[in-house]
Amino acid sequence: MVGSMVKLATDAYVDGKWLPGSRRFVVRDPFDDAPIAEVTAGDGALADLASEAAARAFASWRTKPAPERGKLLAALGARMIADVDRLAALCTRENGKALSESVGEVRYAASFLSWFAGEAERAYGEAIPASNTNQRLMVHREPVGPCALITPWNFPYAMLTRKLGAALAAGCTAVAKPAAQTPLSALALAELAEAVGIPPGVINIVPTDEPSSVVGRWIASPAIRKVGFTGSTEVGRTLLRQCADDLKRVSLELGGNAPFVVLADADLDAAVAGAMIAKFRNAGQSCVAANRFVLDTAIAQPFTKKLVAAISKLKVGRGSDPGVDLGPLIDDNAVAKLRRLINDALEKGAQIVHGSQPGTSRLVAPIVLDGITAEMAIWREEIFGPVVALRTAANETDALVQANDSEYGLVAYVYTRDAARQQRFVDGLATGMVGVNEGLVSTAQAPFGGIKHSGFGREGSRHGLDDYTALKYVATRV
Ligand code: NAD
Repeated sequence: MVGSMVKLATDAYVDGKWLPGSRRFVVRDPFDDAPIAEVTAGDGALADLASEAAARAFASWRTKPAPERGKLLAALGARMIADVDRLAALCTRENGKALSESVGEVRYAASFLSWFAGEAERAYGEAIPASNTNQRLMVHREPVGPCALITPWNFPYAMLTRKLGAALAAGCTAVAKPAAQTPLSALALAELAEAVGIPPGVINIVPTDEPSSVVGRWIASPAIRKVGFTGSTEVGRTLLRQCADDLKRVSLELGGNAPFVVLADADLDAAVAGAMIAKFRNAGQSCVAANRFVLDTAIAQPFTKKLVAAISKLKVGRGSDPGVDLGPLIDDNAVAKLRRLINDALEKGAQIVHGSQPGTSRLVAPIVLDGITAEMAIWREEIFGPVVALRTAANETDALVQANDSEYGLVAYVYTRDAARQQRFVDGLATGMVGVNEGLVSTAQAPFGGIKHSGFGREGSRHGLDDYTALKYVATRV
């Protein structure tokens, strides 16, 4: 239970100290709006303290032997796992997601720490054969410097550890700003970092309900050398522009608009199982959520029937209640967005084949819309909720064209048993990630990230270190 029994960390964590700040903001349970905690509202002054601390700590953290940095990361991951129940309950309380999903998220978040603990030891450089005998050419990988990490509310632990793991493994220090809706999870992580002995200043967390006053300060600070951001395309674009003046390194994990393609020869049961994960994880509030279902007309009816049967079993309710699959949406704006997208689709000719138009409650039961066309806003925008949008395609070629009809390019899913078709989709899809007969692609070992308006940079995998390292080439005359 998270409640009055447990003391929550609610202050900013800066230079190994808990700082209360001059103002606080209220974090609420998305299920019933009940206040959970009053959290320090970080401002420019706290932001400065954090970036100065990160800059000081960088000098010693970067020179700490990589295996020692790795050991501390592994210890933090292990502490998360040891504390999974408490951390998961806290996540469900402030984010609303089903408790089983929060448990999964804590494990997923910890996996980035253990993965990068190993990668710290493997941040190899290169020896390059020179073209004359009296030269030696070497490439070293160095940490880029103190980093500012900005994370969203939908995966409060994992979006942070996916960045922190890579940054700390590379030898960078960090200032981090969690989303205003979910700062408590990040602060709980900071408590564990303190407990396992990560030195002061290496991780600094500044919560706030005025993001630009903190992030703007970090972007203006010459001490911060990189910004790692996960969130909306709109905010990502703004930060990228702001980073231009100081030429900071930037990586952006932005919005998605994933197509979920089911071809005529697909295993429909497997496709439905994949669709349930790809669509309904976190009540549809995921950047890799299936946004546009593209169904070959040959299987559209039987697939829809099977999907509706599976959806009918989903239970919506308070995330901490047993058996609940879908918790509340994060806030009233999220519900209003769904209503706007659904109304627009219905006005342009779509039909509801399961469920009904949501009211004002944040508890939204799944809705299935058929007859989607490219003119509808739901085809263009991230839905971020439990709404299935179905469109048919005449054949494989048509399906691929439809799948690529988006300015986003994060992930695409395709279901087909035909190996040649699989390959044609893998080659033809304009996305950073592809799930082939697979509805869940995210894992610490793989490079997560997008192209086009879904951003750039990769998180996780051996490539995850690249965004936090700079190459230094050394030519030596011997
Ligand atoms: P958001 O862009 O509103 O907020 C993300 C973060 O940016 C938050 O910490 C927020 O406080 C901060 N922020 C907002 N305005 C800012 C400003 N002007 N200056 C500095 N910081 C600012 O996004 P959100 O609503 O929290 O999250 C949902 C979005 O995140 C969706 O678009 C989703 O697709 C995307 N997302 C992407 C990935 C990915 O890996 N590609 C993963 C999860 C979520």
